[in-house]
Amino acid sequence: MDDFFDVIIIGGGPIGLNCGIEAVKRNFKYLIIEKGCLVNSIYNYPANMTFFSTSERLEIGGVPFVSHGDKPTRREALEYYRRVKSSWNLNLKTYETVLEIIDSDNGYLIKTTKDNYRCKNVIIATGYYDNPNLLNVPGENLSKVKHYFDEPHPYAYHKVIVVGAGNSAVDVALELFRKDVEVTMVIRELKLKDSIKYWVKPDIENRIKEGSIKAFFNSNIKEIRENEVDIITPIGELTLRNDFVFAMTGYHPDFNFLEKNGIDLVGSGETLEPEFNHETFETKRKGIFLAGVVCGGMDTGKWFIENSIAHSKNIFDCIESRR
Ligand code: FAD
Repeated sequence: MDDFFDVIIIGGGPIGLNCGIEAVKRNFKYLIIEKGCLVNSIYNYPANMTFFSTSERLEIGGVPFVSHGDKPTRREALEYYRRVKSSWNLNLKTYETVLEIIDSDNGYLIKTTKDNYRCKNVIIATGYYDNPNLLNVPGENLSKVKHYFDEPHPYAYHKVIVVGAGNSAVDVALELFRKDVEVTMVIRELKLKDSIKYWVKPDIENRIKEGSIKAFFNSNIKEIRENEVDIITPIGELTLRNDFVFAMTGYHPDFNFLEKNGIDLVGSGETLEPEFNHETFETKRKGIFLAGVVCGGMDTGKWFIENSIAHSKNIFDCIESRR
């Protein structure tokens, strides 16, 4: 514990990296601490995933993001953000989890799984992708139930239920369907979400209409067993033969981590969100800021890379004003 940093950034996602770049530009002594690998959330996205943003909208630090198609893939994004890290020679520690932010002389003491650090300011850019929204039904803990999709191959020739009405659920359903998987969607809502990517929407709607992907709307999972799933539908309770379940029901920020570290939460249920100043992104703990998608709380559609890139400027304007 020999170093004192102006800023410690928690999370090495695109927005954490962008905060690091802003620190370099303004000549602050900083450190980014990431619990997984560089851009850990993107690394854990579906293997064949394509971003909805065009590549130039995901650019940070003036490093050009060249992609082969109009929209970049996960693989291209991993390559890109690694190049960003190298180009800016960002001070980043990986595989180190921040556990606690404790008040200390002239700032904060950061306790991690490996070390302690002292700093004046903290930016929490921890995203939401580590915490899936659970179905909370019996059988959810079976190994056949997954909240993250990797790739379709292991599921070929099997019966798979995909739960959810958003982009992740639709992408998973279509990708599985095209690899000889018998797909059934179980959708709580009366229809697919309006936010489905406009170039994907006709594909899923037509597959459902022709019956090649079965869909139960206004329906919920009741219980999951090794070979069957019970669902509650408008026509009554049904039992479906089943091998795997993908519960693509969204994710949420680590509210326990936020609360434990003195960040107030406001709202409840689907409106739960952390409290912070929307101009400076500072929380009620002076010198502790939020950045990136963590700011949206349960509303994970509110902030994304494109529109959170600007957070770092506001945050560092505030930090710099106290220099
Ligand atoms: P994250 O990238 O989630 O980074 C947070 C990091 O913090 C993670 O690496 C995590 O490991 C780390 N962390 C968490 N807790 C700790 C801790 N205690 N200690 C240390 N490290 C910690 N946005 C767009 O703009 N365009 C798109 O096309 C797009 N497509 C998307 C597709 C999918 C499938 C998903 C899920 C999201 C997409 N988004 C898109 C949204 C956006 O890409 C991501 O949410 C983005 O990763 C947000 O960046 P972030 O830096 O705020 O958070």
